[in-house]
Amino acid sequence: MSKKRVLIIGGGSGGAILANLLNPDEYDVTVIDKSRYHTFQPGQLFVAFQGSRKEFQKPIRCLLRDEVKFVNKAVSEVNLDDRYVVTSDGARIEYDYVIIATGVHLDYDAIKGNREILNEYGDYFSSIADAKKLWNTLRKLRKGTFFIGVADPLYKCPPAPHKAAFLSTNLFRRMGVHDKVKVILGMPFPHAYPSKTVSDIIEPKLEERGIEVKTYFTVDSIDTKEKKIYSLEGDEVKYDVATVVPVNTGPKIKVTPEKVLDDTGFFKVDKFKLNIEGYDDAFAIGDCSNVPTSKSGVTAHLHAEVVADRLHGLDSVADGRTHCPIVSNGEGTFVISDYNHPPLPIRMSKFKRLQEDIFIATYWVAVKYPKLMQPIFRSYFEATRPGILSKVGW
Ligand SMILES: Cc1cc2nc3c(=O)[nH]c(=O)nc-3n(C[C@H](O)[C@H](O)[C@H](O)COP(=O)(O)OP(=O)(O)OC[C@H]3O[C@@H](n4cnc5c(N)ncnc54)[C@H](O)[C@@H]3O)c2cc1C
Repeated sequence: MSKKRVLIIGGGSGGAILANLLNPDEYDVTVIDKSRYHTFQPGQLFVAFQGSRKEFQKPIRCLLRDEVKFVNKAVSEVNLDDRYVVTSDGARIEYDYVIIATGVHLDYDAIKGNREILNEYGDYFSSIADAKKLWNTLRKLRKGTFFIGVADPLYKCPPAPHKAAFLSTNLFRRMGVHDKVKVILGMPFPHAYPSKTVSDIIEPKLEERGIEVKTYFTVDSIDTKEKKIYSLEGDEVKYDVATVVPVNTGPKIKVTPEKVLDDTGFFKVDKFKLNIEGYDDAFAIGDCSNVPTSKSGVTAHLHAEVVADRLHGLDSVADGRTHCPIVSNGEGTFVISDYNHPPLPIRMSKFKRLQEDIFIATYWVAVKYPKLMQPIFRSYFEATRPGILSKVGW
């Protein structure tokens, strides 16, 4: 019997893990990515605020099992009805199953001034190159205001700006300028973090570090001449250096039929089975899907496991599990939730920071050899299930 052709669009966290989980005797797997490199995106924070030179990028080819084919091209069109995709050079690739794992599109042009500040200062959100640029900018900042904000309440890794704020204060301490550089964190929510329970944990820590939190502050426009940031809610901040998470949308791909996309271009999926609404042979995993949970690498990893199981004939379902780390100076916590439990109050501790450091150290192994790490991850995720932690605490 001939093998079914699985086409995975995107070799990031979700796509690469899924490719490595699929049985090569059963499936002929191809990963197609516009980039030759896979970036460990949390690493951008350590580059931007610690000047880290660790290897946070690897060629996608090296991360895939030998049997998986890799095509380095951008996909410009997906036709779910006739089961083919078109690449930017006009080539047509047919499939039996397609998995869309393209992550989000970062729209730096959605608000005025954001591309200019990206070009001028760099940022921690888009790429390793921009993170290096931000590191070089911040190393020269001797006094003034460093503003960290977001242009929309929906963005991947909700704790990323908070991590940026904590890590920046560590940097300014190391530079001996912490009493001269003010860090302001602008957030669109009524408190520092989208969820009140998590805010209650981190707000005292933000205060301890002298970070000013501006609530109800969604960045609307940036006046780069006056160095002023205006919020949708009518507030303004004067800055010396600023970094603003851009509007995150679904991928810039022509999709037929268009009705499978929501208003922001994310794929509408069955939140349990992850198939694209109306299709049994098309799935969307990770950040590009519209599942009602935070967008994170852990979620993309767990989605990959569900789709691999389903293609292997098992009836696995996604439970909406999130597990987003927040790190400050030497301490850490996790934002843990699932479809049935909103984020739990989990206090910060040095041990949780160590756990996060272990996750970071094992990332490349987890991507290339997901089956090897599966027993460890499964035990960990079982032990930290929201249903359990909500009863016993952590
Ligand atoms: C600063 C920062 C810190 C973060 N920290 C954490 C953390 O601590 N923990 C956590 O779990 N998550 C974290 N995240 C989020 C995490 O990195 C993402 O949620 C995760 O990478 C999503 O995986 P994905 O497979 O959906 O997409 P991605 O990993 O973004 O991969 C998408 C891939 O698709 C490719 N692609 C896109 N469009 C096309 C196209 N048209 N044709 C071909 N290829 C295409 C891209 O090149 C890319 O390789 C962080 C993110 C940032 C920015």
